[in-house]
Amino acid sequence: MNEKYDLHVHSTASDGTLTPTELVRLAAKSEIRTLALTDHDTTAGVEEASREAQLWGINLIPGVEISTTWNNRGVHIIGLGIDLDCTALQCGLESIRAYRLWRAEEIGRRLEQAGIPGAFAEARRIAGGTVIARPHFASFLVDRGIAPNMQSVFKRYLVRGKPGYVPSRWAGFNEAIEWIKTAGGTAVIAHPARYSLSRTQLRRLLGDFVAAGGEALEVVSGTHNKDEIQTIAFHAAYFGLFASVGSDYHGPGHCRPVLGCLPDLPEAVIPIWEKWSETPPLKVANRVL
Ligand code: AMP
Ligand code: MN
Ligand code: MN
Ligand code: MN
Repeated sequence: MNEKYDLHVHSTASDGTLTPTELVRLAAKSEIRTLALTDHDTTAGVEEASREAQLWGINLIPGVEISTTWNNRGVHIIGLGIDLDCTALQCGLESIRAYRLWRAEEIGRRLEQAGIPGAFAEARRIAGGTVIARPHFASFLVDRGIAPNMQSVFKRYLVRGKPGYVPSRWAGFNEAIEWIKTAGGTAVIAHPARYSLSRTQLRRLLGDFVAAGGEALEVVSGTHNKDEIQTIAFHAAYFGLFASVGSDYHGPGHCRPVLGCLPDLPEAVIPIWEKWSETPPLKVANRVL
C-alpha cells in the first residue's frame, strides 16, 4: 500500500470542529504518515499539531489555506512548508482576518435585516478565535433550527444572492502566492474543480498561477469526483505542476469525507512529495513553547 498523505485539513483554529491535537490523533488512527494543517488564513494551530505529531511519528507540514480573489472570484491557495515566523506572510494573514471580522459583522447585520438577530455574537462565540468563517454562522443557524444542516443553510442564507451573503474582498492572488514563496513554502491551488470555471477560464487561472510562481494543484481532493481528478491531473501535467492530495477535512458536523480515505493520484502526474525528496519542506522550528 502507498504511504498515506493528507495535505489539506482544518482545525478549530479556523472552521474545523476538532482541535489540532484531536485532528492529529485521528490522522494517526487513519494511518496518515504526512499531514499538513492548512487552516483558513491562520497558522495558529500548527505548533500544537506539530507537538502532537511528534508523539505519533507523523510528519507534520506547516500549512495554511489563503483566501484570495482572482478575477472577481474566490480562489483558495494553500501554502505548504511555510516558515511560521515570516513577517510578510503573517502580516498578510492578519489583514485577511481583520477583513473577516468586518465581514462577519456585516453578515450579522444582513441576517438581522432578514429577521435573524444575534448571529454575529453567536458566530464569534462558536469561532472562539480570530478566524470567523461562514460555517460558524451556519452552525448557529442549524442550532436555532432555522435549517436542517450546513449544506441547506449555505444554500438558503450564505451564498451569492442570499440574505447573509457579503461580496468578498480577499487577498490578491499574486500577493498571496508571493507571501507563501517569501515564507519558503510551496503554493498549491486548493480544489481547482470547485470554482465553476469553464475550461478556458481554468486554463487562464493556471497560466496566471504558473506566472506568479505557483507550483502545484490539488489533484486529489475530498471534494473532487473521479472525473474531476482526471481533468485536474491532465491540467497539472499540461502546465508542469506537481500534484497534491488533500481531504479538506473539517471534522464531525461538516459534510465532508472522512480522513484517510482518499484515492491514489493518477499515474500521469508527479506527486508533490517527489519535489520534497530533493528539497524537504520546512518544518516547525524547534523552539521553547
Ligand atoms: P468563508 O471562508 O468564511 O467564506 O467560508 C468558506 C467555508 O465554508 C469553506 O471553507 C467550507 O468549509 C464552507 N463551505 C463553503 N461552501 C459550503 C457549502 N455549500 N456547504 C457547506 N460548507 C460550505
Ligand atoms: Mn472551511
Ligand atoms: Mn477551500
Ligand atoms: Mn479547506
